Amino acid sequence: NADQAMYAAKAAGRSKLHFFTAGMQTLSQKRSRLINALREAIRQHQFQLYYQPVIDLESMTVVKAEALIRWNHPDEGLMFPHQFIQAAEQGGIIQELGDWIFREALQQVKQWRKQLNPQIQICINASPSHFEDSAQSPAHDRWIAIARESGLNNAELSIEITESLLMESSADTQQKLVQLRDANIQIGLDDFGTSFSSLAHLRRMDIDYLKIDRTFVRNLHGDSDDLVLCNAIIVMAHTLGIKVIAEGIETAEQHTLMQQANCDYGQGFFYASAMTARQFEQWHQKFSEQPLLLPN
Ligand code: C2E
Ligand code: MG
Ligand code: MG
Ligand code: MG
Repeated sequence: NADQAMYAAKAAGRSKLHFFTAGMQTLSQKRSRLINALREAIRQHQFQLYYQPVIDLESMTVVKAEALIRWNHPDEGLMFPHQFIQAAEQGGIIQELGDWIFREALQQVKQWRKQLNPQIQICINASPSHFEDSAQSPAHDRWIAIARESGLNNAELSIEITESLLMESSADTQQKLVQLRDANIQIGLDDFGTSFSSLAHLRRMDIDYLKIDRTFVRNLHGDSDDLVLCNAIIVMAHTLGIKVIAEGIETAEQHTLMQQANCDYGQGFFYASAMTARQFEQWHQKFSEQPLLLPN
């Protein structure tokens, strides 16, 4: 009867609700376990920077290395940023982690400039939370101090920010970026083209380079719409005095098309994936000795 039906429905609803809550708890428990593990990981030196080269497409030389963080987890093995960066942001660990990355990368670029490649620049990825207005000790202040202490010269280091940061950026954020540039730190715009109002913000903010997002590079071939788009981005950026990196170059064809399109730099598995510092040095040696073999 109707009562029984209602009772059954209520019971089902309750158990669903119960099930849902239990699921949520497990998720937030997992999250807080992860956050604690991250805190411990800093103390235990479980983080490691990997480096992926950026190639000048005209001279075919290595001009930059992007630092990409990895976590050598004692049980899980090598962990990638998408598995922990968000938790680090939510747990407030991203500040400490960001400072560690900054120091580590700075030390590495100084060594490489002496011993490997006098021109090389290191690129670091920043999180939007590094630029939050509410921060008591703003990241950019600490980074500028660290850079000053280590006697940073010109163009040794750049910080990559995302379009969304620039889009939501207050006058305050823009001021921070200006201060970083005044301290000889370049600013790059990552994943360009994935957010909406890119163009207006490019004009408003001084940046040194932008990275065409790899979703545009992925489908590049001779007559694709994406090639037209990439060409337009490159011409526009150059008009504004901004350099361009094509990210996610995986094939010789993509490489050649970006070279023909006058794109300044290329990055992607076609040249090399992210490597440990030692592997990067060995790869760099080989790459400098023998030019890239291109089919045609
Ligand atoms: P991103 O800055 O856009 O970095 C490029 C990502 O694409 C890297 O993944 C890189 O390994 C990958 N990649 C490079 N070439 C290719 C290619 O040819 N094909 C494909 N399919 N992928 C390619 P990764 O290292 O997993 O980093 C992912 C994202 O995590 C980065 O995107 C960046 O936003 C963030 N991230 C990485 N390291 C850090 C860090 O130290 N701090 C912060 N805040 N974020 C970081
Ligand atoms: Mg990046
Ligand atoms: Mg990117
Ligand atoms: Mg990306």
